[in-house]
This record gives sequence, C-alpha cells and structure tokens, in this order.
Amino acid sequence: MIVRGEVFDTALDIEISGGNPRVLVLNRFYLPVHITSVKRAVSLLYMDIAVGVDHEYQTYSWEQLLDGDLDNDKSSSFYFLRTVHRDVPIPKVVVLNEFDRRPPQNVKFSRAQVFMRDRFTCQYCAKTLPKQKLNIDHVVPRVAGGKTIWENVVTSCHPCNRRKGGRTPAQAGMHLLTHPHKPSVSPLFNALKQINAVWKPFLFQNESSERFE
Ligand SMILES: [Zn+2]
Repeated sequence: MIVRGEVFDTALDIEISGGNPRVLVLNRFYLPVHITSVKRAVSLLYMDIAVGVDHEYQTYSWEQLLDGDLDNDKSSSFYFLRTVHRDVPIPKVVVLNEFDRRPPQNVKFSRAQVFMRDRFTCQYCAKTLPKQKLNIDHVVPRVAGGKTIWENVVTSCHPCNRRKGGRTPAQAGMHLLTHPHKPSVSPLFNALKQINAVWKPFLFQNESSERFE
C-alpha cells in the first residue's frame, strides 16, 4: 500500500483540475460517509475498495477509468488528472464496495456544529463573525429552565448576548433570524453541498432519509 501511495503521490503532484479537489465517499447503500482527498480516493479505486460513480449512477472501476473514453456529458462528474499521454478522470463521488458503516444517526451537538448550522452569523443582528467573536445563546435562558439543545440555542455575537441577558427574545425586544432546529445532516455536508453540484443527488437522498430522525 505504501508503494502504491508513493506512485500516486508522484502522479498527483503533477496537476489536477480545480484547486483543492475533494471526493465524496458513499457506503454501499449510497449514503455519504465522509469526504476525502483525490489521492485517497485514487488509492481506494486502485485497491478495488471503491468504484467511481457519475451523476447518472453509472459506476466505474479503476480499469474502466484508465481505459475507457468518457462521454462529454459525463465530464462534470470527474476531476481530470493530467498525465503525459491523456487526462485520467477521477470521480468526484466514489462508492465503497464492502464498508457498511452508516453515517451517524445524530449530528453531534457541539458549539462548533451550532456555529456551522447558523453559518457563523449572529441570529439577532445578522453579523457574520469569526468564532472568537461569537458565543452560544440560550433562547429560553438557562435561569428560566432553558435546555442546552439544538432547538434552544443559537449563535450570537457578544454584544447581542449581553443585551439579551437572562431574558427571552420577546422580553428583550429582540428577534431571531431563524427558528433554531436540529440539523438533519451534518452542517459540514450542507456547506459542502453548495460547493460541489455533482454531490447533490447523493446528499439530498441522505437528507430525506428518516435514519437521521
Ligand atoms: Zn449580534
């Protein structure tokens, strides 16, 4: 494996279209499990641990990717690794052959996940700020029995948090931009979904799954 990795290190250092490309990894139920580098995805393909998949759900083994000619209308589903002889298509989505770990049943509750859910935006004054300038506000304050759960916390800037104090938004005369909710998929997936259109069908399918509720 190490030898193979070194081979791809060299090859992938040459040039890959599209900045810092990432590959969406699906389990064999086509549910997203993580996001990886092109280099790692190539290793998975090379070792037959995964196959590529395009936006029409057609799958490709590594051999097919190396040998086959892709139709032009498929090109949006691939990055292209430039080599001397030809461009090797690297799928933007791969499916694991065996691995059957499901994605987490619940998005883990954490400060960072709340910030991501709220896009680092104060839910009172709409300012987008770095995390050092944000904190977690309890909509129904803890002193009034408000719990630390997705539905009762929002991202807030320090001034809004101080202004609200130990009051509800109504008592403080403040308005929430959004109604806080528990994300159905990781906010990270939501953020990435906007970046890579080819991933959307796979992530959308996941989002509608009842598995997360
Ligand atoms: Zn604010």
